[in-house]
Amino acid sequence: MSIVYLNGAFLPEREAMVPVLDRGFIFGDGVYEVIPVFHGRLFRLAEHLRRFARSVAGVGIGMPLSDDGWRAMLEELLARNGAGSASVYLQVTRGVAPRDLIPPQPPAPTVFAMVMPARSGVPAPIDAVVLDDIRWQRCDLKVISLLPNVLLKQEALARGAADAILVRNGIVTEGVSSNVFAVVGDRLKTPAQTAYLLPGVTRDLVIELLAPELTVVHDEPLTVAELHGASEIFLSSSVRELAPVTRLDGVAVGAGVPGPVWRLAWQRYCAFRDG
Ligand code: PLP
Repeated sequence: MSIVYLNGAFLPEREAMVPVLDRGFIFGDGVYEVIPVFHGRLFRLAEHLRRFARSVAGVGIGMPLSDDGWRAMLEELLARNGAGSASVYLQVTRGVAPRDLIPPQPPAPTVFAMVMPARSGVPAPIDAVVLDDIRWQRCDLKVISLLPNVLLKQEALARGAADAILVRNGIVTEGVSSNVFAVVGDRLKTPAQTAYLLPGVTRDLVIELLAPELTVVHDEPLTVAELHGASEIFLSSSVRELAPVTRLDGVAVGAGVPGPVWRLAWQRYCAFRDG
């Protein structure tokens, strides 16, 4: 049975209860983070905690734990769950308060963490569709209100694809829950960081790991026309790692199989992850 963390206590998942007036439940008023665990180790923990702190501060919630506090809690949670490879999910909501947009007094944040099973093996090639990015203008914050992402994923599945790549005014932002890389001519590009996309920890890692051999262009927009003409496309995320997209809008991407740039990135990533 899985053990979760809720407001200072470790307890079985089915005993963990949150009051109905929690602002996470009522307003989707909270932020989250997902940290992969490989070989029992929290992967890129400092980077994830830095982004988490940015999300917490970005929505004006007080950070309930220090970095050392998060680390100790997560290590204990992993030990209690006996997890080798997994991912941990952390969530902080603004807390429990009368239903008012602005609570009369700032409540104590609700702090929750759980362990989720890891995907394993080489990521399978996927079909994707291009969809209009219907989300808000602060996609750089990792907020729990994911209804637009749910609708987008639903639409992708309804169109027979596994995922969607999102576009705002002709410019690619990101995947529904991943960042995007595309080989355009002889350059590997990923969309420049703006408020329209999450600063992906895996995105940064790929840029860093490829640097000796290949400069990833990460400070320019990626247009939808470039995406449609790309010879390779792949998605990056902590959970999905590096997933090659071999069909886009029903058309083969390049040769229709995972390409050499994806393979190089995947090799570098695995060597780093397992090293
Ligand atoms: N973009 C979105 C919208 C995401 O939800 C995620 C991760 O879940 C990512 C990008 C990839 O971020 P990371 O590599 O830090 O997991």
